[in-house]
Amino acid sequence: MSDKYDVIVIGAGPGGYVAAIKAAQLGLKTACVESWTAEDGKQVLGGTCLNVGCIPSKALLEVSHKFEETAHHYAEQGIMVKDVQMDVAKMMERKAGIVKQLTGGIAGLFKANGVTAIQGHGKLLANRKVEVTANDGKTTTYEAENVIIATGSKPIEIPPAPMTEGYITDSEGALEFTEVPKRLGIIGAGVIGLELGSVWARLGAEVTILEAQDSFLPAVDQQIAKDALKQFQKQGLNIVLGGRVTGAEVKRKLVNVTYEDAKGKQELKVDKLIVAVGRRPYTDNLLSEDSGVKMDERGFIFVDENCKTEAPGVWAVGDVVRGPMLAHKASEEGVMVAERIAGHKPQVNYDCIPNVIYTAPEVAWVGKTEEQLKAEGEAYNVGTFPFAANGRAMAANAASGMVKIIADEKTDRILGFHVVGPQASEIVAQGVIAMEFGSSAEDLALTCFAHPTLSESVHEAALAVNGGAIHIANRRKKK
Ligand code: FAD
Ligand code: AMP
Repeated sequence: MSDKYDVIVIGAGPGGYVAAIKAAQLGLKTACVESWTAEDGKQVLGGTCLNVGCIPSKALLEVSHKFEETAHHYAEQGIMVKDVQMDVAKMMERKAGIVKQLTGGIAGLFKANGVTAIQGHGKLLANRKVEVTANDGKTTTYEAENVIIATGSKPIEIPPAPMTEGYITDSEGALEFTEVPKRLGIIGAGVIGLELGSVWARLGAEVTILEAQDSFLPAVDQQIAKDALKQFQKQGLNIVLGGRVTGAEVKRKLVNVTYEDAKGKQELKVDKLIVAVGRRPYTDNLLSEDSGVKMDERGFIFVDENCKTEAPGVWAVGDVVRGPMLAHKASEEGVMVAERIAGHKPQVNYDCIPNVIYTAPEVAWVGKTEEQLKAEGEAYNVGTFPFAANGRAMAANAASGMVKIIADEKTDRILGFHVVGPQASEIVAQGVIAMEFGSSAEDLALTCFAHPTLSESVHEAALAVNGGAIHIANRRKKK
């Protein structure tokens, strides 16, 4: 049987489902193929992000943060609470409920917009034909004017730490623990390792994170990363830098982890081990030999700046292509591609994609770091403002961290916007908007911010770029 569509999307994560909805909104006959199947045999939409990524991790981060606050930081604010208990099963049940609601919501949006959801594994053949293999093994081939590949990514596994049921797991398993492990090991101090480590440490686990690299969060502005590291260590997270894991073995119900650091061979015994060493593009059994789509040397589908692959009419978006593995980046690309197929000419501004680490304090940034600008030989000015001098942050019992703004020395145009501190994930949006509008630090400095708000730290950091912050000692730069 052959069914023809204007657009077939393979994968219903934030790249794929958003592309499908946008294409349908633009009047294109659209189908979205998704293989994820629930235990009851029903199709699961939403991809990694909604099912085992952004959303469930944030559900656990929010709850564990509240628990930790209540158990350890309420008394200092005059709230006396006795016997604070954690019901892990209830927390997990709530998380599952949120996931169900959101994934069900996508099914509703597909219906409302007229997107046909096709259940099964999609494989791209030559000439924009897509072969879908259903769960019962039956195959159907569909044809499309355009195909959008949005098959996402999977956790990387490393030979020294093979997945072992009940003991060694990836991020997906770490979102499903049924109890708080007494001792938890994590390989990789990246975004996922830090977020998952925070969840279980707040609930009482003794957490050790082993990171092969000597520097902490090398992609983050190092002034911000150093501040964050200090605060994570103060919370009790044991972060071992320069510790490369060489083996992990389950013995007598414990995981014996071996790693090497500057001092030589080391050992760590934990009850559970999470492997969080990054993700790889997912393209298993996706492309026929004659599909015309090419990969780059790291296994990502090769695309140009507009997400076009080497095969005419075939596009690819999200984690399966170059660029940061972020849900909002995937969605931006999905919208751009749908609009391009409809004949518009939008572009994604890759310079203005925010990054967030949802720890406490949160770390968030957009644009360039000082290290990047130095390497590029750019001249710049920096303004920082600490939350310790922000009244609202003090009132919220969260007066740590800072806002840091980096601006071009000549033009004053904002080049980088970095936050470590309370609600950094929300505050960074101000930097994104400013940078999208080509704002100078002075534009922000001339803007009126409500008092008392955390955002006043943005105002003060912008003022500080030229030495004009009010609530810290700084000297105005000579012009
Ligand atoms: P995915 O979401 O991976 O979706 C791909 C879909 O394609 C899947 O549903 C898969 O089943 C389907 N598929 C694959 N191959 C086929 C095929 N051949 N046929 C049919 N279907 C197929 N990002 C953020 O921006 N913020 C966060 O806070 C955040 N937190 C995260 C926390 C964790 C623990 C993890 C693991 C990730 C997190 N991410 C976060 C990353 C985010 O989840 C991804 O960047 C995002 O999901 C990528 O979207 P995507 O559409 O490219 O791919
Ligand atoms: P991210 O890609 O941001 O999720 O981060 C993954 C982290 O895992 C990186 O910082 C890697 O340096 C780290 N990593 C990879 N392999 C190992 C290993 N064998 N031991 C310790 N850390 C590792």
